[in-house]
Amino acid sequence: MAKVVCVLYDDPIDGMPKSYARDDLPKITHYADGQKLPTPKGIDFNPGELLGSVSGELGLRKYLEANGHELIVTSSKDGPDSELEKHLHDAEVVISQPFWPAYLTAERIAKAPKLKLALTAGIGSDHVNLDAAVEHGITVAEVTFCNSISVAEHVVMMIVSQVRNYLPSYDWVNKGGWNIADCVARSYDVEGMHIGTVAAGRIGLAVLRRLKPWDVHLHYFDRHRLPEAVEKELNLTWHDSVEDMVKVCDVVTINAPLHSETLNLFDEKMISKMKRGAYIINTARGKIVDRDAIVRACESGQLAGYAGDVWFPQPAPKDHPWRTMPHHGMTPHISGTSLSAQARYAAGTREILECYFEGRPIRDEYLIVQGGKLAGVGARSYASGDSTKDVDTTPGFRKAN
Ligand code: NDP
Repeated sequence: MAKVVCVLYDDPIDGMPKSYARDDLPKITHYADGQKLPTPKGIDFNPGELLGSVSGELGLRKYLEANGHELIVTSSKDGPDSELEKHLHDAEVVISQPFWPAYLTAERIAKAPKLKLALTAGIGSDHVNLDAAVEHGITVAEVTFCNSISVAEHVVMMIVSQVRNYLPSYDWVNKGGWNIADCVARSYDVEGMHIGTVAAGRIGLAVLRRLKPWDVHLHYFDRHRLPEAVEKELNLTWHDSVEDMVKVCDVVTINAPLHSETLNLFDEKMISKMKRGAYIINTARGKIVDRDAIVRACESGQLAGYAGDVWFPQPAPKDHPWRTMPHHGMTPHISGTSLSAQARYAAGTREILECYFEGRPIRDEYLIVQGGKLAGVGARSYASGDSTKDVDTTPGFRKAN
């Protein structure tokens, strides 16, 4: 019997929904690159329901308990008195979502001698100290592709809303105003702009594909070049460095994993190389940018705006400066946890658990670390390292939680 600890975000403040806005989800048969959707032997939830919060339990309880395992579900994840810490000593599996990350620091991993599997119900396992996972022989897996399109849609929404000054205009309506000049004094068309993505993986490429019909100039930087046919189809300009790309872009969207190579990539120096009045859209990870350099750039006008949904740490402290800096379009970390995405990653989590408990191989495309080294998609897209550093010492973090 294994103890499975599942860390999920809190339920809605008024309790779980009694009904939903829509009756069903569109049927998707495969992902854009042909990868198969999750293939668990069964699911115990209705797709379209809220699964990612504590009461949703990712639909896992029936399956796990029927197989003799213990399931602990909690949102209490930070600090020594958290529920997560109480269960670490005998947890075999820790499941966490990047939206409400259970930071598995080296110290926590040292307190979890039985931990065998750190499972990300979503994409992005930077909340796990990958060096420590390698050292302790812990398998790290995530549900690759489950919410990549969800995020790409959010990125496009944020690009358009920032450039057209949507949020401040919406605010004028709520305030009872009809202040057209106030609304449009910062409003532009996206058409004709140069838009570049840092990384053209599943999300980055999906963003490029979605933007193609907008008659914009598309750019990308990635460690590996896309096939020539794709570059031609989308009329892409590839750059051999981020610096080279940002110089010519009106909008830069960040879609790379957080690891040692991308940590703090957008610091003061990088931002100063951008065109004055460019926008940054970051739905990848908060630590890829320098928090205070972003604030200064929004204040000085070096950036016309900054939007995204990723912060560090999460949940963001109440006094996080991105909540109040000018021209931001931030949301909490939600882009990858639409109800549509939840159905896919809950099924993917179940598939990974079934493989783990039945001793079957976990799909290569889901693996980040296995057998004491980066594996599968992790070996291709990640670099080893520790992105969990500073989580306990970030000002205001404990206070907020
Ligand atoms: P993919 O693995 O498909 O793509 C990641 C891409 O990043 C790959 O093409 C990889 O290149 C590239 N890359 C890695 N390191 C670098 C680097 N140093 N510089 C430039 N490119 C680099 O992942 P997804 O597109 O699905 O997701 C990307 C990230 O988005 C996730 O890691 C996660 O952090 C974030 N995300 C956020 C979500 C949200 O809700 N906000 C939800 C899902 C993901 P190559 O493989 O060619 O080496």
